[in-house]
Amino acid sequence: MANLKGVRGAPDILPRDSSGWQRLEDVARAILRRYGYVEIRTPIFERTELFVRGIGEGTDIVEKEMYTFTDQGQESLTLRPEGTAPVVRAYLEHQMAAQSPLVKVYYLGPMFRRERPQSGRYRQFHQIGVEAIGSDRPSVDAEVIALLIDLLVEEYRIPDLQLRLNSIGDPACRPKILDRLLRYMRERASQLCPECQKRLERNPLRILDCKQEGCQRLVAQAPKPLESLCGACADHFAQVRSLLDLLKIAYTIDDRLVRGLEYYTRTTFEVINPHLGAQNALAGGGRYDGLIEMMGGPSTPGIGFAVGLERVMASIPGDAEEQTALQGVYIATMGQDAHKSGMLLLQELRRRGVRGLIDHEARSLKGQMRQANKDRVRYCLILGEEELTQGRVTLRDMAKAEQQSLALEGVIEHLLELERAGTR
Ligand code: AMP
Repeated sequence: MANLKGVRGAPDILPRDSSGWQRLEDVARAILRRYGYVEIRTPIFERTELFVRGIGEGTDIVEKEMYTFTDQGQESLTLRPEGTAPVVRAYLEHQMAAQSPLVKVYYLGPMFRRERPQSGRYRQFHQIGVEAIGSDRPSVDAEVIALLIDLLVEEYRIPDLQLRLNSIGDPACRPKILDRLLRYMRERASQLCPECQKRLERNPLRILDCKQEGCQRLVAQAPKPLESLCGACADHFAQVRSLLDLLKIAYTIDDRLVRGLEYYTRTTFEVINPHLGAQNALAGGGRYDGLIEMMGGPSTPGIGFAVGLERVMASIPGDAEEQTALQGVYIATMGQDAHKSGMLLLQELRRRGVRGLIDHEARSLKGQMRQANKDRVRYCLILGEEELTQGRVTLRDMAKAEQQSLALEGVIEHLLELERAGTR
């Protein structure tokens, strides 16, 4: 058989990296709890139709990037490319609106998109996302953005981030926004890239965030949604801005920032790390006051964001990945009887909450000490045949490089006391 390799763009997270990932996740869970969000876990796959309707037919994701397959029951299923549509489905299916006027949930896990893999862009990647469903108040927008900034800046300590903010209006002002944009773009259609020529008919707002140089030149002079907001949307945006000012959250207005779909409304935002190169968006989000109705529910406003964890990982300064602290006990043994006593001691230590390790390969004492170092334990308990017959053991403090001989009896209590002192 040929060498079996993983799928391109779907990287493994190896043991040497997984503790870093766990730290990211733990920190996120703690701050999400402080903001009043609870976790929701939806399946990794859904009916294909959910994403076609929930993300929209004209989008890159639906047109080109979904991992879709037909199962044995002839049902078309898709690996989730994003989290909002599944959350909205669950919200409606389980009548979550009945539990609270404002439902605040978060999710954390892998997403799947068949993109061209490159640095910062994968086919399986991980997102932490939140959805706040049930309120259109500007203070919800401000709270969601404050949470995102707290997570990235205060908790993950990523420097130099830029928050970009925009408003793209609602069904009241959208016709005017589109009309002005289309009139401008149709006159210049021949200068648009082939992709944007298609967008012109299907999804014209998306032209505003096209990365092609020619399109960007046109977009610079094009009429933007922000200029044509109706009174209610302009007022909503002004309130979001003033609340962000109150909370001292810095942002720049980016009038090209769109989510690009009909049912996305009002506030849109993105967080950029300017040091990351081409794939520099760490997180994106916005309001979707039309989505829930479009998915068959009652008209219900909502807002959310998703953070890409691979890009967060790439943004965290090196010293944040410092070595983990020395922790627990390694029991080094010489001879079979000592090994048995070691197993017994370990069982007791582990049951009482201590991290404990032992050699299973009958290695030399030197080899075991080397392993203990690698495993970054704080203490080494050395059990030799001769010592044991005298009822004694050697305890080595790996941090201080000191050792002492102790009575075997009571050694567990002694270690537990040291552990407690160490964590104080
Ligand atoms: P989106 O769901 O497209 O708004 O993306 C939200 C965030 O997820 C982005 O800002 C990225 O940080 C991350 N993200 C999206 N697509 C990918 C991908 N293919 N690979 C890695 N991260 C991604």
